[in-house]
Amino acid sequence: MASEAPRPEDTKRVITEAYPSKAARKRAKQIVVNAPPDTEGFRPQILSNTRTTPGVITQRGCSYAGCKGVILGPVRDILTITHGPVGCGFYSWLTRRNQTRPPSEDAPNYMPYALMTDMQENDIVFGGEKKLRKAIREAYEIFRPKAIAIAATCPVGLIGDDIHAVARDMKEELGINVFAFSCEGYKGVSQSAGHHIANNGIFQHVVGTQDEPPEGRFRINLLGEYNIGGDAFEIERILERCGITLVSTFSGNASYDQFARAHMADLNAVMCHRSINYMAEMTEEKYGIPWIKVNFIGAEATAKSLRKIAQYFGVPELIDGVERVIAEEMPAVRAVIDEIRPRTGGKTAMLFVGGSRAHHYQELFREIGMRTVAAGYEFGHRDDYEGRKVLPFIKVDADSRNIEELDVEPDPEQYRPRKTADELEALRAQGLDFGEYEGLMADMEVGSLVIDDITHHETERLIELYRPDVFCAGIKEKYVIQKHGIPMKQLHNYDYHGPYAGFRGAIRFYREIDRMVNTRIWRHVTPPWAEKPQPEVLRQAS
Ligand code: SF4
Repeated sequence: MASEAPRPEDTKRVITEAYPSKAARKRAKQIVVNAPPDTEGFRPQILSNTRTTPGVITQRGCSYAGCKGVILGPVRDILTITHGPVGCGFYSWLTRRNQTRPPSEDAPNYMPYALMTDMQENDIVFGGEKKLRKAIREAYEIFRPKAIAIAATCPVGLIGDDIHAVARDMKEELGINVFAFSCEGYKGVSQSAGHHIANNGIFQHVVGTQDEPPEGRFRINLLGEYNIGGDAFEIERILERCGITLVSTFSGNASYDQFARAHMADLNAVMCHRSINYMAEMTEEKYGIPWIKVNFIGAEATAKSLRKIAQYFGVPELIDGVERVIAEEMPAVRAVIDEIRPRTGGKTAMLFVGGSRAHHYQELFREIGMRTVAAGYEFGHRDDYEGRKVLPFIKVDADSRNIEELDVEPDPEQYRPRKTADELEALRAQGLDFGEYEGLMADMEVGSLVIDDITHHETERLIELYRPDVFCAGIKEKYVIQKHGIPMKQLHNYDYHGPYAGFRGAIRFYREIDRMVNTRIWRHVTPPWAEKPQPEVLRQAS
């Protein structure tokens, strides 16, 4: 980092003054200097979940990408067919490097496939429903899946193909579960809309359809974990050691049957609040499953989350089991922290990723003494930044109204309150929050920058002004950042490394970051635009 970090207010001015006035006014509301909460506990207000300013390069994906790629992508045995052009299908094809472990070698795993109807101009003019039916029949003949999902892309919505009618017909014809998602790319301001649509669809068509209770006394669902680089495998290992049964993960290492039985769990543990709070809320309403926020990124965060789960069940056997596992796992973690902290302490990071990663990864950096000086989400809403306290004050705009809000009521047969009102109150009094999330700002330093939907221009200015020791984002930013001579870590696919969740994942992350921020290779990077002009060479070439 530069010896003197700029004042955050100056950074904001420098960043925004490059925009035309209208765009500058809007961006100024999306760039916030973090401050302590006011007397009523409210943080500075940030503009978010709003359309990206035309003309800038954004990090965001579309609604279809959020539905098909993020939520459905890591489910190994739901065959998803993209109804649309080949480009959309390719765009959502396993680029996040989700992993899965089918129970046997011959068990279905469709994750390596990308199936699409390959819409052409003719289909746009005359409609693509026939083609979709044909594609579903063909896919069924080849794979014989237990469920097929149809994901709509922009042209499908524009020409009005009724994918839900096709799904109903095919469900009857094939005798398997077929359901569709109206997740056309334009359906919202970002991939966040697609997450909402996907959660609604899975909730309506799959959850609650199998009543066979899984074995185990302490049964939970993990929500918002996508098994990037094998994160879920490490979390599953830890939960198993503690004696906690994972009924279902939405959606890392996930399967259709797990979703179908998710209503049999006794607690929902939510990792990525933004992508999946919809599922947590709806399963609580319909089946009576409470939810708590957890974080398995960071060793201390993992220990804290395990303790929260044990506290919820309140059984000494589980509480002791969790303490034993923490006591056994932590010495290895502390040994690595002690070793590398002298090399990483005081260094700085910036994180501009997804819906929770820009928050959760700050834990890992803190553990090795690094500070996060700027962070923000690609598709966060105000509550993700400021906490759920602001939910009643969020204005519902036309884009949000575009997404169906399901009317959910307690199921007459399957609703079963997991705890009495008194038990929940007693747990709250002990400090266990239900349905709460404090947001990113509460965990960031005063004076740090919180930036929603960061643009490419802003990324470059931040790098020039702060020279952070590491920058975390996605593939679209990777090479530009590296050409500035700054180490860049992708937190969407981990650069083929990981897992980084849990205790062992934390150790792997510490070592990776130590290697990245202490290598000298970046000092030798000279981007082409920084080279001296060579008029002689140009003259000879012309
Ligand atoms: S925005 Fe529309 S056309 Fe583009 S990838 Fe998404 S669904 Fe396809």
